[in-house]
Amino acid sequence: MIGPVNATLFAHLDFALTVDPHDRVIRDAGVLIENGRIVAVESTENLLARDAGKAATVLDGRGRGMVPGFVDAHVHLSETLSRAVFPDNIGTRAWVFHWAKPFYAHVDLEDERFSVLLGTTEMLRSGTTCFLDMGAQNDAGVTARAAAEAGIRGIVGRHAADVKPAELPPGWTPEMVEHHFFPNAEAALEVLEQAVSDWHGYANGLIRCWVNIEGKEPCSPELHVGARELAERLGVGTTYHLASSIEEARISEQRYGRWPITRIAELGGLGPNLVIAHAVATTDEEVSLLAGHATKVAFCPSTSLKLGKGATAIGKYPEMRDAGVTVALGTDGVSAAGNLNLMRQMYLAAGLFKDARIDPTAIGAREALRMATIEGAEALGWDDEIGSLEPGKRADFVLFDLDHVEWMPYDDPLQALVWSASPASIAETWVDGRAVYREGRVLTVDEAELHREARERARAITRRAGLDRSEVPVTTTLYG
Ligand SMILES: [Zn+2]
Repeated sequence: MIGPVNATLFAHLDFALTVDPHDRVIRDAGVLIENGRIVAVESTENLLARDAGKAATVLDGRGRGMVPGFVDAHVHLSETLSRAVFPDNIGTRAWVFHWAKPFYAHVDLEDERFSVLLGTTEMLRSGTTCFLDMGAQNDAGVTARAAAEAGIRGIVGRHAADVKPAELPPGWTPEMVEHHFFPNAEAALEVLEQAVSDWHGYANGLIRCWVNIEGKEPCSPELHVGARELAERLGVGTTYHLASSIEEARISEQRYGRWPITRIAELGGLGPNLVIAHAVATTDEEVSLLAGHATKVAFCPSTSLKLGKGATAIGKYPEMRDAGVTVALGTDGVSAAGNLNLMRQMYLAAGLFKDARIDPTAIGAREALRMATIEGAEALGWDDEIGSLEPGKRADFVLFDLDHVEWMPYDDPLQALVWSASPASIAETWVDGRAVYREGRVLTVDEAELHREARERARAITRRAGLDRSEVPVTTTLYG
C-alpha cells in the first residue's frame, strides 16, 4: 500500500476506549496515526472506506484493545532506588524528614540518571506515557535527558525549599542542604526560572519544565506564592505538596490558626496552574477554595495506604470532583507508594470510595479511567495534546493483549480494564507515535544493564545515607 511513510493504520482493534467528552467506546476500531499524531479514530469499516490508501503500514489490531496512555500527575523519579528501604510503619513527616531526605542527600548525578531511567521503564511497562516529576535532586536536566532517552513524555523540575529546620537531623548533608535550601524565595525562584528556560520544550516538546517546589513546612509563604506567580509569568505550571497529612494540618492549625490550604489561599497561593500533591487533609470550605481557584489535585492512593494518610477516612476526593476540581492520580514514587504503576492507582481510585462510603455509585471505573488519563492531562495543562484518543492529539496509547487471562473472557472493556487488567496484559506502549514498549522489552534502554547498575547503586546510597542502621528515627519533632 502506498502512502506517507510516517502513517500507520491500526485496523480491527477489538475496542478503543477513547475517553473523549462522551467516553465513546468503539468496537472493531480503526486508528490512523500520521507524524506522531492521531488523525482518525472510528470504526475500521469507515476508516478503511475513506483512508485505506493513506497509510504505509497497516497493522492488524485483532486481539488488541487501545486505551489512551496513562498520566502520572505526581512522581519522584529521583527516589526509584529507594524501593522497600524505609520502614512501612511510619507517618508522612518522619518518612520525609528522617528517611527520604537523607536518601536524597546521597543520590548523586549518576545515581539520579539511573533512577530516572529505571523509573521511566517501570512506567512504560505499566502504560504510563506522561508524568509530572516533583523535582530533581541534582539537576532538572538529568531528569529531562534521561526521560527523553527512555522515550517518555513528562514535566520535570528541580527540588527547592527555603526554610531549614532549626537543627539538621542525622543523614542530611551540608551539600544537600546547600543545594535544596535557598537563602530565600527570591534566590530559589531565580534558579527555578533558569531551569524552565533551559528545559521547557526539550526533545521536540516531549519534555516540559515547571516551577516546582517542595511545599509545606520547608517552604516560606513567599516561595509558595512566588512559584505560582513565576509559573504564570512563564506560561508554565507549578506543583507542590500541601495538606499531605493530618499531622501537617494540626501543626498549621496550632501555628497559624488555619489548615494549610486555607492559609495558602489567604496568602494568594492558589491558581489554575497549580497541582497540589495529596490534599488529603481538607475541609469542605477548602474544597470550595480549590474549585474557585481551579487548582488541581494529584491524589496518590498507594501512598495514602502505605503511609496511613487517611484518604478514605478524611479525604474529600469525591467531593472535590463533584465541586468541579480536577483530581488526577499520582504514584508518588517507589518508596512512598511501593510502585510506579498508575493502573494500580486507577484500580484503587475506582474502589476506595465505594467501600469507604458504602456507596456503589461513588467514583467507579469510568471516573477512575478519566482520572488516570484525560483529567491527568488537564492537571498538567496538556489536555490539548494528550489524555484521550481523539483526532489531532499526539499518539500516546497502550495496547492490551486480549488473549491474556486477565481478559479471558470479557464483555465491557471499561470494567475489564479497571477491575481485571494489570500491566501484565500490556502488549505495547506508544509515545508520540512510536512504540517504546513491545514484546516484553522497553526498546529504548538496555534493561539488563540498568538493573545491574540500579541494584548496586541502591545499596551504596542506603549505606552512605546511614539508613541501614537501627537508630534512624520513626517519629519526628522537626518543624513542630
Ligand atoms: Zn510527593
